[in-house]
Amino acid sequence: MLALVDAKSTILIDCGGDAMHRCLSCGIDPMSIQSVLLSHKDPDHVSGFPLFMVKLWLHGRKEPLPVYGIPSALDLVKKVYGAFDPGHWKGIHDVRWIETSLKPEAVVLENDQWLIQSSPGKHGVPVVGYRFSNKATGIRVCYSCDTEPCDSIVSLAQGCDILIHEANGNIPGHSSTVQAADVASRAGVNSLYLIHLSKDLTKDQVAAAKDIFPDTTVAKDGFILEL
Ligand SMILES: [Zn+2]
Repeated sequence: MLALVDAKSTILIDCGGDAMHRCLSCGIDPMSIQSVLLSHKDPDHVSGFPLFMVKLWLHGRKEPLPVYGIPSALDLVKKVYGAFDPGHWKGIHDVRWIETSLKPEAVVLENDQWLIQSSPGKHGVPVVGYRFSNKATGIRVCYSCDTEPCDSIVSLAQGCDILIHEANGNIPGHSSTVQAADVASRAGVNSLYLIHLSKDLTKDQVAAAKDIFPDTTVAKDGFILEL
């Protein structure tokens, strides 16, 4: 789960596990959540969605929640959420499902604060990475989870200040620390944050990434970056 928090609102990206618990433990006001974006349909990214909806309802959310995602991700989440028959939770907020494109640099949403675009990654199931451009600060952040190194993510990250990239290992559908560093270097970003880490991550693997891209940081669960 990634949360982008600015003065006005919060955008939540992916919803694996207990997203509400993570928001609260990071000091994020659940009532500030403006929308949810999903990257793909794998369980570690969407399985917490029904629980998150119930917890938002218990926190008193009334207004509809926009949820953005590519068709395969939305289809699965709709089924899983629907299986809980959410209509029986009296007064629960509606979910506004917004299907997004798998095309490169597709516009996902644009408002006064953000321009958000997506491009496909390379994984066992369809997946997108996101680029967030904050209109007030000019800061641009690219987030790519669950992908092999690929040109479409390099292009998406070009011009960004920060790349948040997975480092689950050099296995099909994923990237090693070194591969993530190579993507950061090719994209020309200022800083790289490694997420979705391999359970076998070693100091040597991090050092090897820093040899390629010195401004590399390992961002474990609960990591907070203030911009
Ligand atoms: Zn994953």
